[in-house]
Amino acid sequence: MPGRLLSFVKASPSSSHKANKAQSPPTTLLPPHYSLDPPPNPNPQPQPRTRSQESLVMDAFKRHSLGARHSSKSPKVEPHRPANLNMEIESPPIVFYNSPQASTGALLSGQLKIDVVEPHMVLKSLDMRLIAIVSTKKPVAPHCPDCLAQTTELHKWEFLNAPVSLTLNHGVHSFPFSHLLPGHLPATTQGSLASLNYYLTVAAVSNTGEKITFKRDLHIKRAIYPGNEKHSIRIFPPTNLTASVTLPPVIHPIGDFPIELRLSGIVQNMPDSQTRWRLRKLNWRIEETQKFIAPACTKHASKVGGEGKGVLHEDVHVIANEEVKHGWKTDFEQGNIDVEFRAAVDPTRKPVCDMEAPTGMSVKHNLIIEMVVAEEWAPLKKLHQATPTGAARVLRTQFHIVLTERCGMGISWDEEQPPLYEDVPCSPPTYIDDYDSEGLYESRSGAATPPLQL
Ligand SMILES: [Zn+2]
Repeated sequence: MPGRLLSFVKASPSSSHKANKAQSPPTTLLPPHYSLDPPPNPNPQPQPRTRSQESLVMDAFKRHSLGARHSSKSPKVEPHRPANLNMEIESPPIVFYNSPQASTGALLSGQLKIDVVEPHMVLKSLDMRLIAIVSTKKPVAPHCPDCLAQTTELHKWEFLNAPVSLTLNHGVHSFPFSHLLPGHLPATTQGSLASLNYYLTVAAVSNTGEKITFKRDLHIKRAIYPGNEKHSIRIFPPTNLTASVTLPPVIHPIGDFPIELRLSGIVQNMPDSQTRWRLRKLNWRIEETQKFIAPACTKHASKVGGEGKGVLHEDVHVIANEEVKHGWKTDFEQGNIDVEFRAAVDPTRKPVCDMEAPTGMSVKHNLIIEMVVAEEWAPLKKLHQATPTGAARVLRTQFHIVLTERCGMGISWDEEQPPLYEDVPCSPPTYIDDYDSEGLYESRSGAATPPLQL
């Protein structure tokens, strides 16, 4: 839903129930990512949900999700089906290379299979849809399936439509399909507040009115190509200390990455003495910030102050942290401390790659580096006899970092595909009884032959 405007009331991170009852209507109608006030609590802790809340959510989701709707209460009794549906995806796993703005998307192709179990069946309609379902764990109205999940149809394949019908004999019949998935779609995301999933849903209807359905999920990943290293400088007034940090352009859910840090300005010389900072402690952590604007359905719009509005939820949590215990080099002559260490996301903390969806869902990451420096004093004549002055400072700085899937050996479809039809410089071959190879060559090299008028 690009361009959809949502405003929101801020949810107290401590309780979704309180948030749902929030009475004060929002005052702005800005797109959500332009109007984010700082959360009331800078370090909100994810609240453990009670089992009953959780199961209600799952229950409602099951009722709402397309596939579950057809599940019978007594699964042992399989209803008679004239045919079974299945699917083979032939394209490689869907990976969008680069940012949503720069990605050329990915090709999806496969075969839809109908296995007719009867001697024959007459098919009245056959279609397939690509849908996106955004579902939240914090719906505006806890029991409302329309607040809980929103379905968007992204593409529809109509293989067969009335009044045409198709008679299929016993056996397997294939219907090929393909589509270029646009690269701006946000990747499949399982967040702590909301999830975004893509599905292919198929419906076949026979001439006797029997409906056969099939659903499978389509996992979309995004991999942002690493660019150049990022260099950042931070100053720490009122001291003279400056940190220069070199970071990789992107990081990944699995595997470590290097961080180079130089702390400059650690020495201050007086006429007969010197004060200097010594690094005592070095910590880093990676914080993941997930945001979601839970929309209200038309029935519950009054809960959030009107239609097109939602409740902003935010969840900040640490997905990696460590203390760097050693490995830094202190050079009082140059006035620098240099340290190189490796950091890594903790895969057991379920990191979620960066994403931003126009529906108000986003995931972002920050690397936070914290250094404790202690001041010491030494006479210039006896620099090795330093005495701590008792002064110490905590230097804290943060950097935005992008967590993305690895590109691996993958390349974008438009770089590996043979030329598309539009790229072929010439018209379709003309049929001439007595053609010569020179003419063929010319037509290939771009000298378009005018179509024959017969
Ligand atoms: Zn609702």
